[in-house]
Amino acid sequence: MRLWVSLVVVVLVVGCGKNRPMPGTWPAQITSHTGFTDEQWNKIQGAVDYMNTGAGKKLIYDEGEQGGIYPIYFKLVENGTDHATRAGLAIFDSETCTIEVSTLVFMAGNQDTLIPVINHELGHCAGLEHDPQVGQIMYQSATNLKAYTRDAFSKFFTRVEQNIGM
Ligand SMILES: [Zn+2]
Repeated sequence: MRLWVSLVVVVLVVGCGKNRPMPGTWPAQITSHTGFTDEQWNKIQGAVDYMNTGAGKKLIYDEGEQGGIYPIYFKLVENGTDHATRAGLAIFDSETCTIEVSTLVFMAGNQDTLIPVINHELGHCAGLEHDPQVGQIMYQSATNLKAYTRDAFSKFFTRVEQNIGM
């Protein structure tokens, strides 16, 4: 069963999948990206690096690199009126993960949410579910990077590593 998990910028209740540990299925490999301008993609790559740097190990390999075994596909989607506050959506199972990034995160005023949004979606790719506690990376809505504590990120990286067995 594939799971669809969306992240919203403004508080909005969304469903989320079960926590399924997937040891042995990572490191991840970015396999494709579609729809992004070079500038937008550079920003996404920076947000992915944020996880590798924070974890202190290579959890995700970039396109053009080799070493990852769990494919992640990135896709830019237009911010539609039906999901006007959805920043990202992770569609994943134990074999692949597709991350849809909304044009919303590239709009003026929202760019500081990019790192939290991408890390949140990567957390879903690692099998994490939502955290009910406000301020945590896996909380159902995201806000500016500055609003998160170092502790929230280090807890998040630890949970990711535990879930994927790295
Ligand atoms: Zn989510």
